[in-house]
Amino acid sequence: MKRSEVDREKISPMMKQYLEIKDNYEDTIIFFRLGDFYEMFFEDAIIASRELELTLTGRNAGLEERVPMCGIPFKAYEGYLDKLIDKGYKVAIVEQMEDPKTTKDMVKREVIQVVTKGTRLDSSIDAKDNNYIASIYSLDYCYILSFSDISTGEIYVLLESDDKEALLRDVLRHNFQEIIVNDATDRTLINTLRTTYHLNVSIYDGTCEDEKYAYIYKNIKDIREIAALKHLLSYLTTTKKGDLSHLKEAKEEDKKEHLLLDNNTKRNLELTETVRLRERANSLLGLLDKAKTAMGSRLIKQNLEAPLTNQKEIERRYDFVDKLRVEFILRDELKNYLNDVYDLERLAGRICYGNLNARDLLQLKNSIKVLPEIKKILTELKYDKDIETYDELFSLLDKSINEDAPLTLKEGSLIKSGYNEELDEVRSLASGSKDFILELEQKEKERTGIKNLKVGFNKVFGYYIEISKGQVKELKEEYGYERKQTLSNCERFVTPLLKEKENIILGAEEKIINLEYQLFMKIREIVKRYISSLQKTATIIAEVDMLCSFSTVADLYNFVRPKLVNDMTVKIIDSRHPVIEQVMSKENKKYVANDIIMDKDTSILLITGPNMAGKSTYMRQFAITVIMAQIGCFVPCKSCEMPIFDKIFTRIGASDDLVSGESTFMVEMKEANFALTEATKRSLILFDELGRGTATYDGMSLAQAILEYIHDKIGAKTLFSTHYHELTALAGSLKHLQNVHVSAVEENGKLTFLHKIKLGSVDKSYGLNVASLAHLPESLIKRAKEILDIYEKDGTKKKEFTQTSLFALDEEEVKEIDKTNEIEEAVKEIDPLNMTPLEALNFLYSLKEKIKKEEK
Ligand code: ADP
Ligand code: MG
Repeated sequence: MKRSEVDREKISPMMKQYLEIKDNYEDTIIFFRLGDFYEMFFEDAIIASRELELTLTGRNAGLEERVPMCGIPFKAYEGYLDKLIDKGYKVAIVEQMEDPKTTKDMVKREVIQVVTKGTRLDSSIDAKDNNYIASIYSLDYCYILSFSDISTGEIYVLLESDDKEALLRDVLRHNFQEIIVNDATDRTLINTLRTTYHLNVSIYDGTCEDEKYAYIYKNIKDIREIAALKHLLSYLTTTKKGDLSHLKEAKEEDKKEHLLLDNNTKRNLELTETVRLRERANSLLGLLDKAKTAMGSRLIKQNLEAPLTNQKEIERRYDFVDKLRVEFILRDELKNYLNDVYDLERLAGRICYGNLNARDLLQLKNSIKVLPEIKKILTELKYDKDIETYDELFSLLDKSINEDAPLTLKEGSLIKSGYNEELDEVRSLASGSKDFILELEQKEKERTGIKNLKVGFNKVFGYYIEISKGQVKELKEEYGYERKQTLSNCERFVTPLLKEKENIILGAEEKIINLEYQLFMKIREIVKRYISSLQKTATIIAEVDMLCSFSTVADLYNFVRPKLVNDMTVKIIDSRHPVIEQVMSKENKKYVANDIIMDKDTSILLITGPNMAGKSTYMRQFAITVIMAQIGCFVPCKSCEMPIFDKIFTRIGASDDLVSGESTFMVEMKEANFALTEATKRSLILFDELGRGTATYDGMSLAQAILEYIHDKIGAKTLFSTHYHELTALAGSLKHLQNVHVSAVEENGKLTFLHKIKLGSVDKSYGLNVASLAHLPESLIKRAKEILDIYEKDGTKKKEFTQTSLFALDEEEVKEIDKTNEIEEAVKEIDPLNMTPLEALNFLYSLKEKIKKEEK
């Protein structure tokens, strides 16, 4: 039965309450609290039972048919919730707002929060990564992109033109967990985001006019940006519902302050994860991140995705990294203290929002405990930023919070004794009464002379005095015993004194729990006042941690301080690819270092050399060196002189944009176009075998035209690798272009790669040698050699080749050529992007069969 089909006149009152709530949360699964369970109904129940493998049952709701229902115990709901959120659902949690025991009418229920992927504040989010939610706000002639990590409180805003491609690039660059768009947003854009890039997008309209949050945009001038921020804030406040005043003032993202890397570059260079397995460990981030705090790790990642362009700031970082290398003993001490610093940024969010427990405050205490030590070291190192220490806050937490406090706030044992007089009094009253009762047994035995008299406790009757049947007659009126319960072999009594003490104990326990909770909340209010200061400290700690990490890896992997120059000279001696070098060193192999030299008049290095020689790696290591240098890290080489770059563009390898399903060539041309339109003199362009995706002459002509364009019109520093040897002749006409090549040595037909880059060009491609390394059939390689010989003798025109060769070949060989043509034809026919793996395998198999037949 569907929700829309329900006759709301007939339905039970509770179901009516459910439907009224659900009406406002169409695209959200409702966890509806009923006693000890969260129940889901109707379509929600069907989805949840499928996704969570729960049994679908039904509930009588006054209708003919039962309403579909499934449920989860409220005590163990988190696992289920995480699963749904991971799958991209939103969940609204509906709680009972009154105690069912004390209300006669139906219990009031309300949504207390909506949990969504981009707005989580619990511990399920990755500590070493930001968790961003974005708003795309479409206006008539522009888009505004704003985004926030509410766990750390950061908010950014960015005004975009109405260029959809540019917007898309900025969206992809950031890795958003969730995106909201306003209703005015173009539906095709939404579709692209959803279906092509699998982003979690929902349409939301709303604006936050709450004065409480106006400080967030008070320094933003552009009213369009303010409107966008209000849109984002509206979503955040309506989903979270709690206090979000830990959010920081919004920052306008200024692209000029950063070395711009698009998403392709980030991926191609494996900055934060590897292309194939998407692992962090073998990425550049994995190599550079030796941070001790989650804040430091997040900052390193942020920097890698958006390095700096401000020379002063970069040099400032180098200075401190250098200092830490010299003062390595202090660095080690510092690292030890940093180890004790908890994630202050995210803690600030929890303090505000409310899902804070006593252990968080203990971690806060332990974190601020080491701050004076850290401050001392930083002063000694003449670090230019000053951190606060929080002596008062520390002593407050030290005095108040119990070291082994439980995770929940409603069990007591949160507050230390000695902190609050009233609490101490109630506690001693309770424990005094307990002692009194313990002593009572002995006293009553003496008073009554009944030897086997016992004092006991049970939940229904409370404290009692138990006397066996045989002894009951010994009781006298004057003792004041009052019969409570008769059992088969004994009777139980109370006395006024016992009752009085019992009341004190039970009352005291409840009072203690309430009092402790109130005291905890008061402490939280005090801690709240420190939030913005703690956030500032957290920012500094994160930076110190990052720079410590850079200094550590510089020592570990032999990095050197770059020299930033003002003209466009690049001189990197013995440059290495830091990640591949480490991977190789684990296998006891040595990475071959290479120079990257481009004086100010050289803009293009045209790189030729056989496949597998190391061209792509050489190009990547240049870009990686630039990125490392511009985040303030030292670089993998013997010495480095380089300018500050403004943007990096890459087209590397044949990695199809499988995500968007476009063909290699189309993607290639789009990326080339993007680079050619956006690049400046100060940019770095890496074009790896551009034009490979199309027919030879097309590809070669395009490559040449692109080279000429970069040479004449842009002047960006460009590494261009190619297998079109004809292009090397361009060095004659393009004076800013220089040929380099990667050599290989051939011995007895076997090829050894030296991975050494040298000036000038080579005229041999060794393609066949590589093919034989890949174990293609001998006969095929032999045949290819023959064809190559003919090519090399008779020039490269195919027509001529077929004519001369037909005469020159005997009948056997003609057949072979036909066969080759047949295979070639078959290969031309297919469209790999539209084949299933099975079809591809079958096709390969049929080719092999053809070749086999040929060999017979
Ligand atoms: P190309 O682009 O010329 O086909 P690649 O750059 O893909 O070649 O490199 C081919 C292989 O050679 C890679 O597996 C890489 O690990 C190795 N390699 C590349 N450059 C070096 C080097 N400088 N020292 C050692 N090994 C290298
Ligand atoms: Mg390559």
